[in-house]
Amino acid sequence: MTGYDFRSPRLYVDASLKEGAEVALDSGQANYLCNVLRLREGDGVLLFNGRDGEWNSTLSGAGKHARLKVGTRARVQTVAPDLHFLFAPLKHARLDYMVQKAVETGVSRLQPVITRHTQVARVNLARMRANAIEAAQQCGILALPEIGEPFDFVKMLRTREPERLLVFCDEDAEIAGPVAALEKAGTSPTRAGSPLAVLIGPEGGFAEEERAALLKQPNVVRVSLGPRILRADTAAVAALALVQAVLGDWSEAARE
Ligand code: SAH
Repeated sequence: MTGYDFRSPRLYVDASLKEGAEVALDSGQANYLCNVLRLREGDGVLLFNGRDGEWNSTLSGAGKHARLKVGTRARVQTVAPDLHFLFAPLKHARLDYMVQKAVETGVSRLQPVITRHTQVARVNLARMRANAIEAAQQCGILALPEIGEPFDFVKMLRTREPERLLVFCDEDAEIAGPVAALEKAGTSPTRAGSPLAVLIGPEGGFAEEERAALLKQPNVVRVSLGPRILRADTAAVAALALVQAVLGDWSEAARE
């Protein structure tokens, strides 16, 4: 059960939220509420800003003068599970998709990593943020993920937090059940309840030296996603679902 109102329109805003506040809308937000959703004066909109929880509000004015009057709080602020998503950036539509799906599955940080075979040199972080906001708006997520400046593979290894279990999705891994591999990694006494990261490579796959370097690292679990090579965006969804189900906040054990 989700336990929240997922039918009302929801809007992310930058402004601080508290009862009685008035929130001005930019032209994109006004257009979305008044023209796309066709809301009228007095209609309800749920608001969140990633900090103050979720608030009921009502629309007043119209067009350029539309604004929202904040009423009572609907939900207190939640924190995202401590799950970092490390990924080689993809081109436009596939990156949009991957970012949206990662946010929907509940990651707390989106971190582009430039690997040897990554074909995308420049990552549009503003676009990533817009996709993250859209996914959060649609899926009732109150905590927006952090978005990291891209860094290269070497820096990823150098700056790794030793206690964060890294789930390395390796297209070359021997085929073996990923659930058992994750369970084993997650229940070893040193790792129980540890923060998590999932790493997905580029469409060109990992280079041999990258694979070798990863396998030398402590606290890495190498995972196969089955006998077929998945496209990177599909692999991301599959891996995040597995990790959330076995070690993350989809699992009973993690919530106890
Ligand atoms: N071009 C590469 C495939 C890369 S797929 C090749 O043909 O070998 C992109 C990324 O998705 C991979 O780096 C890996 O992180 C993930 N991935 C895809 N299929 C996978 C599988 N069967 N098992 C584990 N990871 C997989």
